[in-house]
Amino acid sequence: MIVFKKLAHLQSFLEKKRLSGAKIGFVPTMGAMHQGHISLITASKANTNITVSSIFVNPTQFNDPKDFEKYPITIEKDIDMLELAGCDALLLPSIADMYPNGTKNLPHYDLGFVETVLDGKYRPGHFQGVCQVVHRLLDIVKPDVLFLGQKDYQQCMVIKKMIALTGLSTSINICPTLRETDGLAMSSRNMRLNTEERKKAVLIFQTLQFVKQQIKSGYLNDIKERAFNYLNAEGFKADYIEIANAENLHLQEFWDGKMPLVILAAAYLNEVRLIDNMLH
Ligand code: AMP
Repeated sequence: MIVFKKLAHLQSFLEKKRLSGAKIGFVPTMGAMHQGHISLITASKANTNITVSSIFVNPTQFNDPKDFEKYPITIEKDIDMLELAGCDALLLPSIADMYPNGTKNLPHYDLGFVETVLDGKYRPGHFQGVCQVVHRLLDIVKPDVLFLGQKDYQQCMVIKKMIALTGLSTSINICPTLRETDGLAMSSRNMRLNTEERKKAVLIFQTLQFVKQQIKSGYLNDIKERAFNYLNAEGFKADYIEIANAENLHLQEFWDGKMPLVILAAAYLNEVRLIDNMLH
């Protein structure tokens, strides 16, 4: 794997590959790699000829400065894991390279409803930051296919919308959520959980499963409320547990028994905010 710190070096490497007909896959990350990230590398390798990853902890997407400061950084281990997975190129850009004119006047994207619902409501500005960094990275890498994790369900929808708005030609491949053996969705933030919190964290997955099993056509409020109260009684501070139309994230209070649904949860365990979702 070639590690690039300079954008121009990566770009000329990719230009040569492109000219020889290679299809380029891209896996953007914030590092602190786990097998969930690696599954995206594996998917890219199976579907493209050259796999590029990036590690950049993007300051513009953190609405909480404490969360940014405490974001885990394990760069040496990340490089080893990417190398082992067969990633071809890794970009490690600096903040100055990513935002040469600073972070004050970055583009604003007209994302509509999908920006303000769920995580958008609890993390104001977050999805604008996500779009700014992904748009910039797509301009640099110009991949044929962008690999994203279903773990960040709303993020996938937001990025889809940004790509449509900007007219980029990259296609999106959404990969399933990788989980620990007890069901907890793999996440870089799991590293911040102590032993007791780690044991408890699985309740988010179990609650989603419970909701999924309980959903029947008709009104959904009772089951949502029970799940929300359960998490809080177990020591979480839940932001939401919601049931939405899987295609557009419109929140549902009633199910006709046919519409594809997604159940989404976000909850704090002390200082660590965890999210997860499940399709129904
Ligand atoms: P992050 O480093 O958290 O920004 O994540 C980088 C990419 O990995 C995003 O597309 C995430 O959705 C994806 N990802 C994170 N966790 C998982 C997981 N458990 N399974 C699959 N993909 C994941």
